[in-house]
Amino acid sequence: MGYNVNNLVLHDGSTIGVIGGGPAGSFFSYFALDFAQQQGIKINIDIIEAKDFNCTGPRGCNHCGGIVSESLIQMLSTEGIELPSTVIRRGIKSYTLHFEQGGTVIETPFREQRIASMFRGIGPLGDDNKDQESFDNYLLELCRKKGAQFIQDTVIEMNRVTDGIVVKTRNELIKKYDLVVGAAGLNARTLALFNPLISDFKPPETTKTYVAELKLDRQIIDQYFGNSMHVFLLNIPNIKFGALIPKGQYVTSVLLGSNIDLEIVNKFLLAETVKNCFPPDIDINEIMPCQCYPRINVVNAKTAYADRVVLIGDSSSSKLYKNGIGAAYITGKAAAATAVFNGFSKADFQQHFQPVCTTLDKDNRIGKFIFSVTSIIQKASFLKRGILNMVIKEQQKSSLKREMSYVLWDTFTGSAPYSNILKRVLHPGLIFNLVWNIMVGNIKKQGPVEN
Ligand SMILES: Cc1cc2nc3c(=O)[nH]c(=O)nc-3n(C[C@H](O)[C@H](O)[C@H](O)COP(=O)(O)OP(=O)(O)OC[C@H]3O[C@@H](n4cnc5c(N)ncnc54)[C@H](O)[C@@H]3O)c2cc1C
Repeated sequence: MGYNVNNLVLHDGSTIGVIGGGPAGSFFSYFALDFAQQQGIKINIDIIEAKDFNCTGPRGCNHCGGIVSESLIQMLSTEGIELPSTVIRRGIKSYTLHFEQGGTVIETPFREQRIASMFRGIGPLGDDNKDQESFDNYLLELCRKKGAQFIQDTVIEMNRVTDGIVVKTRNELIKKYDLVVGAAGLNARTLALFNPLISDFKPPETTKTYVAELKLDRQIIDQYFGNSMHVFLLNIPNIKFGALIPKGQYVTSVLLGSNIDLEIVNKFLLAETVKNCFPPDIDINEIMPCQCYPRINVVNAKTAYADRVVLIGDSSSSKLYKNGIGAAYITGKAAAATAVFNGFSKADFQQHFQPVCTTLDKDNRIGKFIFSVTSIIQKASFLKRGILNMVIKEQQKSSLKREMSYVLWDTFTGSAPYSNILKRVLHPGLIFNLVWNIMVGNIKKQGPVEN
């Protein structure tokens, strides 16, 4: 336990209000309770969450592709958290990369099946599968077991008083907390409640994305998608990345980029390369129980903390386009460690929490550069042919010689930091191989298709 000038440190009976019970709120609560127990302090945590993750459709959904990255699965495993089979809708063991020129399968590095697809709530609107669990609810249950209180309600007001922060909810709960943790995702109304609490807070900048659920027979999903996540790098404006992710009886369609709208969505869903992934004669609109345009961070928040307040997860700092749940784990755990081991003054968060956000920011700048290069690739057929040629050849080699395949794997899964990916891309051997494959691939000028 630390000491700071305002004596803002946790002690027996300290109260923490966590606003939002998505992954960031759960990871904070789980680790704060765990660390406090290690320190012999008894703290009280309330997690206030507006949604009911046991509901299907929007009431229980946190709008997401639903991929749990390799790196997060490993980190959770070292904490003794193994996702149960009821949460995992499919283990993803390969990526199928699609260009207009053709496609190829990229196997999981070392052929391990370490990526999971899941639903954040219980499932899409009208889903009747009662044997499955929600990912977000599973994390909340872990916190409940550690002693957190769960309050199903919406926070509508927060006020700073001399010895705490008073939180008011829609159902008229009024409670003072020693520390308030903002884990409200990108909910603009909730983020605005933090402005009076943090004088120099600048919320994250966001853009519109797209998610749709497509319902198909299991046998059709097995036959057409298998245990593979289908990734599309097509020459369609605004789209940086399109994917079809198989999950139980559904395939989730995700589009990331900038300001995705209906026109862009239609260009994607009606593209030949995408239509060819489905059985012929399927009308996608008829198998779509729900779709939405959720927002995603493109620039992280600034100064997301003050005395007695800290924001985590999407509300503060995330990883550009990928592995947002992994970033929620990193920021949630870092804020919990700061509060328990150091204290919860602005200076504590600046010294011990800010460096984690700064690392994410720096890596995102490299990520932005990598995605601007992939945008160039999307528009250049000759580059796509070269990459396809290289990946197809690599997949026939031993797993240690698949440099381009792993670069693409880590870029699409978000499993490695962007800085690490860039270092590998700039390796002279990889550049030489790529140039060679661009020449060979374009001399052949055929669209290699391997599935
Ligand atoms: C299209 C798309 C696809 C994505 N795909 C992936 C993926 O495949 N893998 C991945 O790792 N990440 C993915 N992400 C990112 C990921 O969804 C987020 O990074 C992650 O959900 C952040 O977790 P969080 O807890 O910070 O916020 P959230 O998950 O948004 O949780 C915030 C919670 O706060 C609650 N809340 C908000 N305001 C209040 C209030 N006033 N009172 C009470 N409760 C409140 C909300 O109901 C919500 O449950 C994707 C994002 C998008 C947009």
